[in-house]
Amino acid sequence: MGDFMNAVKDHIQEGLEQAVKFRSSIYKVNQKNAFGVDLNLAAEHLSRIVNFGKEIAIIETDLSDIKDSELGEISGYTSFKKDRIYIIVNENDTSYRKRFTVAHELGHIFMGDLTEENSCFFRSQAIKTSVNKEYIKIEQRANAFASELLMPTKEVEYLIQKGFTTEKLAVIFGVSFSAMRTKVGIIFGY
Ligand SMILES: [Zn+2]
Repeated sequence: MGDFMNAVKDHIQEGLEQAVKFRSSIYKVNQKNAFGVDLNLAAEHLSRIVNFGKEIAIIETDLSDIKDSELGEISGYTSFKKDRIYIIVNENDTSYRKRFTVAHELGHIFMGDLTEENSCFFRSQAIKTSVNKEYIKIEQRANAFASELLMPTKEVEYLIQKGFTTEKLAVIFGVSFSAMRTKVGIIFGY
């Protein structure tokens, strides 16, 4: 189990580093958007840099009918089609959760987790209960990517130093107050 926990830790670190890399490449095309991330723009940018060269379309739809005994509640997934890559998001989720889902799926695409043969990766509570270790590692990596993409550590640190409150930061980065509070907590080490 120790080895597995270390492998998960490594994946989380990698997800964070890959988000920093992706984020810095967006800056080159989006200088004026200093803080927070426009996910539509990020998807557009990603579709230009991933080697499939396909448009990435973000679609909101009702996923409550999809029942999966292992996956449980479903927030979204990515599907490769001939013409496009579709990121499907559960329309019943809150706007914050939808943003996280899109960022998570962008992470899968950016990090090359998906292929046409293996095109579905759902994000759900399953990560806590799944026995598939490979799945858990890849999911944790995509979650770390999403978190860092939405709340870049350097930007959050900078704004904290400027005196911004957690409430204000949540608005700036388009995340829930509790997600922002967790991030600020990690930065302060509590
Ligand atoms: Zn996933």
